[in-house]
Formats: sequence, structure tokens, C-alpha cells
Amino acid sequence: RQRPALPANSLQVLDRDHLIHPVMSFRGHEKHGVTVLQSASGMFLRDASGHDLLDAFAGLWCVNVGYGQESIVEVAAEQMRRLPYATGYFGFGSEPSIRLAARLAELAPEGLDHVYFTLGGSDAVDSAVRYITHYFNSTGRPAKKHFISLERGYHGSSSTGAGLTALPAFHAHFDVPTPRQHTIASPYPYRNPVGGDPAAVIAASVAALEAKVAELGAETVAAFFCEPVQGSGGVIVPPPGWLKAMREACARLDILFVADEVITGFCRTGPIFACHAEAVSPDLMTVAKGLTAGYVPMGAVLMSDRIYQGIADGLAPEAPIGHGFTYSGHPVSAAVGLEVLRLYTEGGILANGEARGPAFASGLAGLVDHPLVGDARSRGLLGALELVRDKAAKARFDPAVELPRRLFEAGYRNGLIFRAFADGTIGLAPALTCTADEMELLLSRLRRTLDDVL
Ligand code: PLP
Repeated sequence: RQRPALPANSLQVLDRDHLIHPVMSFRGHEKHGVTVLQSASGMFLRDASGHDLLDAFAGLWCVNVGYGQESIVEVAAEQMRRLPYATGYFGFGSEPSIRLAARLAELAPEGLDHVYFTLGGSDAVDSAVRYITHYFNSTGRPAKKHFISLERGYHGSSSTGAGLTALPAFHAHFDVPTPRQHTIASPYPYRNPVGGDPAAVIAASVAALEAKVAELGAETVAAFFCEPVQGSGGVIVPPPGWLKAMREACARLDILFVADEVITGFCRTGPIFACHAEAVSPDLMTVAKGLTAGYVPMGAVLMSDRIYQGIADGLAPEAPIGHGFTYSGHPVSAAVGLEVLRLYTEGGILANGEARGPAFASGLAGLVDHPLVGDARSRGLLGALELVRDKAAKARFDPAVELPRRLFEAGYRNGLIFRAFADGTIGLAPALTCTADEMELLLSRLRRTLDDVL
């Protein structure tokens, strides 16, 4: 029943002619093609030409449990046989989605008791914006329509979320951000104008939020969105205490605090959610990626009872709330999610990820002696090396040097996959199943890759 594999070069041609890839430049795709991945096991991927690669990025920071977890495959197959689809519309439900919502509410920060399932992170962010808008319209404060996020933040590429995302490529030619979407400076310790002192970085962020809210008028601001560690903006790790300070500032300013834990959730930074490390309870939280570890698509928005009750009371008791997707709470995704959560908690994966954190942090810190590395940073198994042309001046490479492409090619030759950001920063997010030996291999391949692009 398996279709025979096509030769790598035929796949390249079909790919170039027909498949549009996320984010990739159309012309760049036509020129360079893609590396076709065929199979995977544990921490390793194999491409269509038979080359093995240590995946130091867990797919797209999502395959937190590593590849080839048989129990997930079995659960998915079993659910497909029993009930491959069940709608959540018209008064129907399915056991996996109900149980997954309850389990998430149990594991999530205090008070996030209500769960709406999406297909990924972008539509979780989009759903959060829609529910927040509904909430303020329902509770008699319709002027609260402005949203604030962080420079370098990433909140997906839905037509609303792309405006909260603050990365130039997601705005250019897309007519976002809208006049209701605003940003404040990123708490970027390595390049913060106030310097890297933790207390100063935190104070600067709080002051920037207060100033932005004052400028707009608190009565017009709905919410502040942030990632506990900024991922796609270059793995920017704020100082401990930053998240709590921002949460408290939002409460003081009477705006909602939304934690986008699409990357940081599900043990990526250590605890099951990054919010737990600082005992932070957001008003809403968005998740995806590690929820199903990339085996099938799924995301969710979790909301506090206050938001839920506000929306509920804003309409006539039987009036529909016009927000819904065919695949919300898909039973196969939900069954996979339940099994993935079991693997994190009872299967030892959370503990293994936490155990590997110190070697990851010290291994990255040990690479700061390399002539290319300006900064090394991490939290849990989420990390980055920021490469610079001149360490003293923290000067970035000229785009003409094409550092990301050269890094990717050197990584490939050394059997290593990571994320090479446009500014030359290397992003790392190995699976939480990584052994001590695999961590050593990852770090040694990384050093060789850096030597190769010197
Ligand atoms: N929010 C954050 C913090 C993300 O990192 C991402 C994706 O990387 C998204 C939202 C969008 O998620 P998706 O790509 O599943 O739509």
C-alpha cells in the first residue's frame, strides 16, 4: 500500500514546480530547491539522498519527544480505526478532546480552566484575539481594541497574528500591522540600550509598556501579548522575573496578559509551561507545537474563567458564538496530545529534558571563545548563539555574506540541522529525549560547523 519512493531528483523538480513552502522566497526556492526529508528515528533525520542529520531543532521546535515514538503511532492508529473524526459542533463531542481539555486545564497555570482547540499556533493567536475582542464588547468596554506586543515577537502569520508578530518579513506587502497593533522594545539583554543588567532590563520593559498604554489610553488597550522566551525573533531570553513583572504591570494597567507558549510550552524551557517557573497566571495562553510534538497538527487557546464568563454573559443564553473550525478538537490529534502529555510527565521526558539543560547551557557558553560567537543564551533546551563580525562592536554580518545559507550548508556537511536566522543567529531546540552522548555530539558538530564558516 506504500507508494514507491521517487528518486530525489524527480522530487526536486516536482517540488520546484508545484509546492509553495512556508516563508521561503519563491525565487530562492526555484534556485536552491529543498532538502527532501524521508525518515527519522530518535534525534536523527535521513534525507532522500540517504544523508543522516542530527536534528538540533526538533523539526520546527515541536518534536519535543523525538522521532519514532511507537506509542504515539499506536494511539493515533487506534483512534483512526475507532472514530477518525467527530465534530465539536451541534452538541457533539469526543472523548479524547474532552479529556485533553481537562488535562490541559490541570497542567496549565492556575485559573486557565477553559480550552478551545485549534490546528496550530497561528489560529490559536487569531482565536485569542477574537475571544478578547468579543469579551470587551460583551462586557461593555468596546473601546478596548488596541493590542501591544514585543519587537522581534512572533505570533504566527494569520491576518491578525501577523500584525502582532514584529518581524519585517511578516509585514512587508501584507498591510500589517494595523493601526490597532503596537510594539514595545524587546527585553534583549545582549543588545538592550540599558545594558544587560537583569533589573534594568525588566524595569525598561515595564516602563515601555506603561508609556505605550499611557500614550494610547488604558481604556483603549485590550491586551499585551508576549512569548516567555522570544523564539523566532532570535531566541531572546529575558532575565528571570521579567515575565512576572510584565504580568503584574498588565494587571495594574487593566489590560489582559496573554502568554504565547507555542514554543516555550511542553517542557521546552524546563517546566511544562514557562509561566510555571515564575508562578505566572496569564489571562489567556496560546499553545501548539509540543502539545502533539509535531506528530499531528493541533494548538489551543486557554482562557481564564473571567474571560469565559464575560463572553458567556454577553449574548442571549442560546445565541451561538460565531467562532469555530471543522477540526477543532480533532479526536486523532487529541488522542495523540494525551499520549504526548503522558510521555512528558509519566514517561520521563520532562525529567530528561531538565537533566540535559545544564550541559546544553555550559556547552553553548563554552562556544563563546569561538571567534564568530558574540553571545550564547539558553533556557532549558531552547538556546541560541548570536554570531557577530566584530565581538567588541557586536557588529552583525553584512547580508551579502549570506551567512545563514553558509551555516546551513556547513551544518548539512557536518550532519547537523539547526535554525540559521537571517541575522546569522543560530537557534537550537533539540528534542527533550536527547541523551548525554547526543548532546556532546551536537555540540562538537556545532563547533565544527562554526569552524567551517570562519
Ligand atoms: N506563536 C509562536 C510563539 C510561535 O513560535 C509560532 C510558530 O512558530 C506561532 C505562534 C504560530 O504557530 P503555527 O506555525 O503553528 O501556526
